[in-house]
Amino acid sequence: MTEPHSAQPLLEISGLKTAFDTHDGKVRAVDGVDLTVHAGKTLCVVGESGCGKSVTARSVLRLVEAPGRIEGGTVTWHGDLLDGTGESFDVLSLNNDDERLQRLRGGDVGMIFQEPAASLLPLRTVGAQLIETLRIHTGMDKKAARKRAIELLDEVGIPGPAERVDAYPFQLSGGMCQRVMIAIALCAKPSLLIADEPTTALDVTTQARILDLIRSLQAEHRMAVMFITHDLGVVAEIADEVAVMYLGEVVERAGVEEIFADPKHPYTRQLLRSVPVLGRDRGRDLPTIPGTVPNPLHRPKGCSFHPRCAEAIAGRCDLDEPPEVVFDGGRTARCVLYDQTEGDRA
Ligand code: SF4
Repeated sequence: MTEPHSAQPLLEISGLKTAFDTHDGKVRAVDGVDLTVHAGKTLCVVGESGCGKSVTARSVLRLVEAPGRIEGGTVTWHGDLLDGTGESFDVLSLNNDDERLQRLRGGDVGMIFQEPAASLLPLRTVGAQLIETLRIHTGMDKKAARKRAIELLDEVGIPGPAERVDAYPFQLSGGMCQRVMIAIALCAKPSLLIADEPTTALDVTTQARILDLIRSLQAEHRMAVMFITHDLGVVAEIADEVAVMYLGEVVERAGVEEIFADPKHPYTRQLLRSVPVLGRDRGRDLPTIPGTVPNPLHRPKGCSFHPRCAEAIAGRCDLDEPPEVVFDGGRTARCVLYDQTEGDRA
């Protein structure tokens, strides 16, 4: 398939399936996801809560905990090929003790999670956590790592970094903890940053600062970013490419301008309609998407979006799984509205 632009692929996810075994049955949280993150570019993965965005991100580094398990697909890392140090490899096929997996986690791939307070260790100072990551991934001695930790805290905009390096997470605000997480994720100068709703818990001012920070660090290190969010305002600001997820599947992929100017999938269209536009929507009710994301244990037959879709075709969308249609330029949408084979099948 032609990619939306010519940058080189750094990470290719293909046919990824991740499921959770529950008392009520198997939940297919990620159900055959294909995504590509290009070197130096930002891919935003969007969708409502429960669409499988975070599980997809965690699956990349095999950080899915039981009762979850990755059931199929490949996650191909091209970073070693691009920087000339080795070959491409499938992350999912590595043994747990493979040195390449350890190198990816916190080294070549940095991760920022949604809840910094839950990700930072409460009984260790933020400096100790930064220093440990620096020593593992850069081989610095303790003194050099402490010096670098203070510099990093300064770079992510933490005031008084020489003092704050010895603070515990509970002594810092949510915004500062998030900045510490970013410093930890970036300390080994990763080729890819995976940021899972990194600004959701923050006020808008801090959110804007964190986005600026990621952008400037991206420009400096030519880092790729996979940014998980449900906030289309953030997408408009930072994305090069967008993947829209619904109930464990990617339903649309396109460049950011294409998504906003000409959304193909009805779910994308309905998501965009529910975003307020300054000046236009004052005093009027915003359209919402009816209903909620269905329980993945009880997936609707046919197109999983059909019970909520304003454009559903009775007798078709409730029966057949829609095909993924590829448009000129490489963008895709999973919807029967664009299926050229309809006539052949009738
Ligand atoms: Fe709507 Fe049918 Fe397209 Fe699904 S396949 S998004 S129900 S039109």
